[in-house]
Amino acid sequence: MSTTEKNEAAESKTTNGSSKPTSPNADLRHDFASSWVYSSAPESSDKVEIKSSYGHFINGQFVEPAKGRRFNSVNPATEEILTEISEGTSEDIDSAVKAARIAYNKRWSTLPAKERGKYIFRIARMIQERSRDLAITESMDGGKPIRESRDVDVPLAAAYFFYYAGWADKLNYAFPGREAKSIGVCGQIIPWNFPLLMLAWKIAPALATGNTVVLKPAETTSITALKFAEICRDSGLPDGVVNIITGAGQTGSTIVNHDDIDKIAFTGSTNVGKIIQKSLAGTDKKYTLELGGKGANIVFEDASIDQAIEGIINAIFFNQGHVCCAGSRLLVQEGIAEKLTQKLKDRLETLIVGDPLDKNTDIGAINSKAQYDRISEYINIGKEEGADIYQTSNGLPDKGYFCKPTLFTGVSQSNRIVQEEIFGPVLTIQTFRTPSEAIEKANNTPYGLSSGIWTDRGSKIFNVGSQMDSGVVWANTFNKFDPTSPFGGYKESGVGREGGLHGLYPYVNLSNNNLR
Ligand code: NDP
Repeated sequence: MSTTEKNEAAESKTTNGSSKPTSPNADLRHDFASSWVYSSAPESSDKVEIKSSYGHFINGQFVEPAKGRRFNSVNPATEEILTEISEGTSEDIDSAVKAARIAYNKRWSTLPAKERGKYIFRIARMIQERSRDLAITESMDGGKPIRESRDVDVPLAAAYFFYYAGWADKLNYAFPGREAKSIGVCGQIIPWNFPLLMLAWKIAPALATGNTVVLKPAETTSITALKFAEICRDSGLPDGVVNIITGAGQTGSTIVNHDDIDKIAFTGSTNVGKIIQKSLAGTDKKYTLELGGKGANIVFEDASIDQAIEGIINAIFFNQGHVCCAGSRLLVQEGIAEKLTQKLKDRLETLIVGDPLDKNTDIGAINSKAQYDRISEYINIGKEEGADIYQTSNGLPDKGYFCKPTLFTGVSQSNRIVQEEIFGPVLTIQTFRTPSEAIEKANNTPYGLSSGIWTDRGSKIFNVGSQMDSGVVWANTFNKFDPTSPFGGYKESGVGREGGLHGLYPYVNLSNNNLR
């Protein structure tokens, strides 16, 4: 077959007359937009019950906030008020800590480990049973596509509970030759990007190791934590083992500074992490901090480009880019930069931005007005810094906080959009010539949470991966999570690890008794 005949065979005509490659290897522009049209497929929220207001969950019951103050939780896709959430004050936090202390002393720390495990297994199964309700609620409250809350957030939350339930009566195997003792009452503060999943990362290992908890969800996404409180109550978990106090930053700060809390686990911004670290200095509280990131996604010339394109999309547009380990900086080897950027732009055109409850939606709503404003500010900063912006041509819904998938090319390493965490669907693209240049650029930010490497060569993965200043290095994939795998950062991305066996350490005191 001649070259011309091969090219003709690789193309077919669509109904509107445009050329479309039929072979994934054909070196032609993909014309996704004219070929793929989806009818809307909305998930029904009819059966989902969201109460008109919620109290705090203290000592196994929902109670009114001591000062009677409440704030609204808003659906970011519609701007409608979903419910009223209680604002936690020092009185509420005192009650919760007292309940957690009594539960710790009288019940939970003395319960046989096997029994503790049974409760946690039960909670995991109940999350599965209520998975549809939890997934829809998560998408309504936080704006994330139902596809993600249904297929990622909720199943993974259950998986973390299953995983740590299994450890409860096997701590002797986790720490051979040493005795693991629980710490006491844990104060846990979580962000709005993965509300139920971050709760699972915090509560599951704490309970498995015999601790009790007081947890504060983020102000904009409290509802699934309160539904989780219902699960704790319905599972028969002893009163006071899990307490949920809602509120904003001040409530979190009061938990951090409470005298009768033994450990703080925090996930959120680096700025707040630093405030917490300062206030814990000089106390004997243990702490773990999971903070921000500015992950580099490095694509070498020998990578499978089409596979890398899907990985780049997943790395930055998963959960609207509200991901601490997002691959928000793309580093492409010079020889393929032009081709890859064009393919990426073509693929971007196919992303569906819109109703989080539509099963076809790829990118949902930005979590809050405040975060929308912050992302918009960074987009303006990028333009002012002289970078070239590319945004998709598709329109956005009239209501709600939606942001177009955005690429910036022509950026330099010192630009703010390259150095600072934007936490939105915004990707910067830089080029490099040699592996050492890629490593230098990848490591040149204050953060050190995640990175990705795309190459056909296993040796390159090991060579480059071992030189990344980041807690996680993904190879030919991105944003993959598993309960057995530790997660955490270097530099300004945090202190300590969550997940896997490593995730048990922050919740125990170890002694060498068994060695005597
Ligand atoms: P914050 O760090 O402000 O919030 C995280 C959690 O801490 C929330 O529950 C928050 O409460 C609480 N909090 C706020 N101030 C204090 C304080 N002084 N003491 C104790 N707890 C406090 O992050 P934001 O939610 O405001 O997000 C802003 C930026 O943080 C994002 O743009 C992103 O860069 C980063 N971020 C990183 C995350 C990660 O996973 N690494 C997750 C979320 C955000 P409340 O929200 O109710 O005010």
